[in-house]
Amino acid sequence: MTFGVGSTLRGLAALGLALCGAAFAGKAHQHGVARLDLAVDGGTVTIAVEMPLDALVGFERSPRTGAERQAAAAALARMRDGAALLRLDAAAQCKLVEARVEAPELERPAAAAPNGDKGDGHADLDATYTFACAQPARLATLEVGLFDAFRRVERVEVQAALPQGQRKAVLRRSAKVVQLAR
Ligand SMILES: [Zn+2]
Repeated sequence: MTFGVGSTLRGLAALGLALCGAAFAGKAHQHGVARLDLAVDGGTVTIAVEMPLDALVGFERSPRTGAERQAAAAALARMRDGAALLRLDAAAQCKLVEARVEAPELERPAAAAPNGDKGDGHADLDATYTFACAQPARLATLEVGLFDAFRRVERVEVQAALPQGQRKAVLRRSAKVVQLAR
């Protein structure tokens, strides 16, 4: 990696603040609605995605059948493919350097779940992607591929921490591009 660790940490700190803000809103997630927090810091772009498992696979507990296990594995594989899901401007020359995807409910068999995993609660997938961009000044758009990858996603609520300030946007199937330039 050629970018500075300090700059990555600052990006993550900015992201952390944005995520805390969301958490303090204290609202349970809404099925069909994903959150996306983006921070640009120098050549580092950090993107955090929070998705209700319902939007991913249609259930929010550990898989119980072979078909559910297959759906879970396919959804996790799609989420790990950050470069396909999050398409930053080609001109900015960004490369995905790390993708972290966490969805404990999907990653363990139902039998291994504590207390029998009754499946009456809500559960999310959390993913964090780090991109290193050679030409960050040319970063003008982000096309979000979550709608194409998951048909149950209806809305993506975006918060962006950009060099020129904070920005919010709501994406829908008919409008899946975030404007990042002024
Ligand atoms: Zn739910």
